[in-house]
Formats: sequence, structure tokens, C-alpha cells
Amino acid sequence: MGAVAVEDVDRQIHNGFRLLRFAPDIEAPFLRDYVAARVRLAPIWAVIGILIYDLVYFGDATMMSDVFSELVVVRFLIFTPFVIASVLAVRRWPNALLYDLLSIAIALLGVTLPMSVAVNSHSPYMFVYQNGNVAAFLFFVIALRPRFAAIVIGLVLMCASHFTTTSLTGAFDAVTHSGIVTFYVTVSIFLAMSAYFMEQKDRMNFLNQLRGSMLHAQLEQKSERDELTGLLNRHSLARVREAVWRGQGSAASVAVIMLDIDRFKLFNDVHGHIEGDDCIRAVSRCICREVGGAGETFRFGGEEILVLMANAEVEAAYVMAERIRSAIESLGIPHHGLADGHVVTASLGVACGKSSEQSLEDLLKGADAALYNSKRNGRNAVSVSGGGTGVSLQRSQADDGDDASLAMAG
Ligand code: GH3
Ligand code: MG
Ligand code: MG
Repeated sequence: MGAVAVEDVDRQIHNGFRLLRFAPDIEAPFLRDYVAARVRLAPIWAVIGILIYDLVYFGDATMMSDVFSELVVVRFLIFTPFVIASVLAVRRWPNALLYDLLSIAIALLGVTLPMSVAVNSHSPYMFVYQNGNVAAFLFFVIALRPRFAAIVIGLVLMCASHFTTTSLTGAFDAVTHSGIVTFYVTVSIFLAMSAYFMEQKDRMNFLNQLRGSMLHAQLEQKSERDELTGLLNRHSLARVREAVWRGQGSAASVAVIMLDIDRFKLFNDVHGHIEGDDCIRAVSRCICREVGGAGETFRFGGEEILVLMANAEVEAAYVMAERIRSAIESLGIPHHGLADGHVVTASLGVACGKSSEQSLEDLLKGADAALYNSKRNGRNAVSVSGGGTGVSLQRSQADDGDDASLAMAG
């Protein structure tokens, strides 16, 4: 279902589905839903169906006493085990085609078995007895409810079987037999028509539900994500905070990295806001790439980005911040507001603490102070706040070595 878009669902609703078939991308999840619902109900219908079918045993005893023992055999030793095996089969291999085929087989057996025994009976109650098959027709269409095409095939086969066996009993004259045929054909037409409209309705319900859940997911995505960058927005920070501070062990260590693009007002002034937006997007993508699964990235303000890392110690957070700083510089986005050859850079502040001792606000304050420290120290730098200790570590722009070493700053 991953590839289906709301527009595809809308198009399907608009185009209709008179032939009871969706476009392949939508048909596949529909069939999954269809088969899951049928398989869930299969054991219940099997129990009800078997109970009703086997209780006709009493009717057999009174109406068809001359072939009673054969009827017991077909009901208890053929039909009942077949239904049980069918339920086990669809549970083992949940598949729409298998379900439909087994439904037809059960319905056809249900109609054929007693009547093929009745062929050898001389019962005077044959007319009443054959009426019982109406129940099998109803059960097939209303309870088992395979797809429309299967219903049509099933009804045709059931009618053919019923008309043949009733004729073979020799119990009916031509007028009575044509009455039986007319009756079953009429019932079958009504059942088939109602099955068609039921499936139409099922399919429309499915499309509406699918559309609803897709719109809901879109809305959730919109409310959680920043439109420009696709990063999580500040609103979703509350949810992540909840998960980090309440969800895991309270002694776990949490790190935040606050990032601010350097001289960005000037960038906008020189390059214009459109290019400014592109720059924020490029920086955001770069940060996401570097952070990967190690944390969550939020657009905190205009060109301020926050990375929250659960279960991260200060060293790991510093290494991550330094990687981000260096990766942004390596993007090589020219900054014409600055001296020739200068590129867009960012300053970062890191704060780390135990979630049992420090709130998110404490860490944000610490990271903000460290970020200010980076700005004060010439930008394109990472500073680490030691939380309450007031000690910070800083790597300055002048420090060009690849393995960033930490310098203590007060
Ligand atoms: P500093 O190095 O001290 O951070 O200098 P700065 O110019 O970057 O200062 P500051 O961080 O205060 O400036 C933020 C600027 O970012 C102001 C605003 O014009 C710009 N900005 C904020 N949001 C957006 C945005 O969505 N798109 C664009 N193009 N610019 C934005
Ligand atoms: Mg700013
Ligand atoms: Mg800035």
C-alpha cells in the first residue's frame, strides 16, 4: 500500500468500480482486508453452519428414514470434516482466491450431498425435504460472502446440482419441477443482485476508510514536521521530551546540540530569501544525514536547529556536533556577504545531563549558552556546556586538525 496516494484513491472513487475491481495498487490492500475479515469470521460461521447442517439430522430421521444411515454418513463424515479442513486451510494460507474456492466447494457440497442420497429415497416428503437447500443458498451468500464472481459461479453450480438431483429423484412431475426451478432461479437472482450491491458498498467503505487514514497520516505528518525543511517542529519536541524523560530510565543521560547558521541575516540580504531558504534546506539535510539514527532533529527557530540525543554522553554529543559543523562547512555553499572564498558555516552548543537531574529546559539553556560561546569565539565552532558546572569545551575555527581536540573554556 506504500505507493498509493490520496489522489489515487480519489481517482478510484471518481472512476467507480462497476466491475468490482480496483486498480492493482488498491486491489491488493483491499483483498488483504477482505481475506483477513473472512478468515476471522470463518471459525464462527463454520460452527454455526455445521450445527445447523447436522441438526437437519432430525429432519432426515423423520422425512427420509429409508436413506437415513447414508445421510448420517454424508453429513457427519464428509461435510463436517470438509468444513473443518477448509477453515484450517484458509487460516494456514489466508488468500482471497482460496477462500472463494472453498466457499463454493462448501456450498456445492452442502446442496449436493443430501440430495444425491435422496435420489435413492422413496420418501413422500421429497418436496419439503428439497426446500431445505434454500438455507444452503442463503448461508453461502449471506454468511460466507465470497466475492461477487464466486457467488455467481457458486449459485449457478448449486442450481445445476439441485435441479439435476431433484429431477433424478423422480418424485416430481414436470410442472412441480419447473416450479422448483423457477423458485431457486428467482432466489439466486435476488441473492446475486444483493451480493453485487453489498460488495459495491464494502468496496466504497474500504476506499473511504483508506482515504481517511491517509489524510489522518498526512495531517499528523504536517503537524509534526516543519514545512520548509521536513525536520520535526517545536510542537513535536513535547512528544519526544515525553518519550525521553518519562519513557526510559530516569538515570539515562541526554544530550542536546543547538545549532545556528552564521551570518545568515547577511546571507539573506546578499543572496535573497529564496536562496536563503535553499540554504536552510541544504543545511538541514546535511544535519539529518550526519545524525542518522543517533538522535532526533528539530527546526527550533528560523535558522536554529536542535538535535536531541537520548542515551548519549557528552563525548559522543561533542563528536556528533563536530561532525555536523565540519559537514556543513564541507557543503561549500558560497557566502558572498563575507570575504572572498567564505562559505556558509554554523556555530554549535552542546549540553548534556542526566534526565533525572536536568529538564529539557535546563539543557536548552546550557546549549544556548555554549552556542553563544561559539559565536563569541569567532563562529564555525562547537562549545560544550558542562551543565551546572559552568565549564565548557570549545573547538575554535582556528583549530584545523581533523581529530578535534577539546579545549576547556571557562
Ligand atoms: P549570527 O552569526 O550571529 O547567528 O548572525 P545571523 O545573521 O545569523 O543572526 P541571527 O541568527 O539572529 O539571524 C537569523 C536570520 O535568519 C534572520 C532571518 O532573516 C533569517 N531567517 C530566519 N528564518 C528564515 C527562513 O525561514 N528563511 C530565510 N531565508 N531566512 C530566515
Ligand atoms: Mg539565529
Ligand atoms: Mg545565525
